[in-house]
Amino acid sequence: MQVALANRLIEIICDHAASTYPHECCGLLAGRVDADTATITAVHPSDNITQGDPTRGFEVDPKLRFDVMRALEAQADGTEIIGHYHSHPDHPAEPSKTDLAMVYEPAFIWLICASTSAGAQDLGAFRANADVSGFDQLQIITAE
Ligand SMILES: [Zn+2]
Repeated sequence: MQVALANRLIEIICDHAASTYPHECCGLLAGRVDADTATITAVHPSDNITQGDPTRGFEVDPKLRFDVMRALEAQADGTEIIGHYHSHPDHPAEPSKTDLAMVYEPAFIWLICASTSAGAQDLGAFRANADVSGFDQLQIITAE
């Protein structure tokens, strides 16, 4: 499995991660998944509505998810919510133990952006492995 997305979508995620630092940012990924490629066609930035420490956790606004789902249903072209993104302020672009405990939808693609006071750093793509005991890293393919 690889993840394909346009550079402009990566920029939206990186800008979001930089602007919310030192808090985690988050948002939804829309697109399609076929046999070996998850193609992200849109990103939808969310407020981080976590009740916990926003420097160490995130929660996507369920209202955004509802609105995006409804818009995609109306679009009726097979595009779905295929995952989400969040940032790791001052931590690597790798899933944390907390992230693993939050895998409610095992098919979801996870994009994680490392951020520092200097801005966005790395972007990593992951998906839970078959028994949800960890994450597999996915290759990111960029396109214009
Ligand atoms: Zn995380």
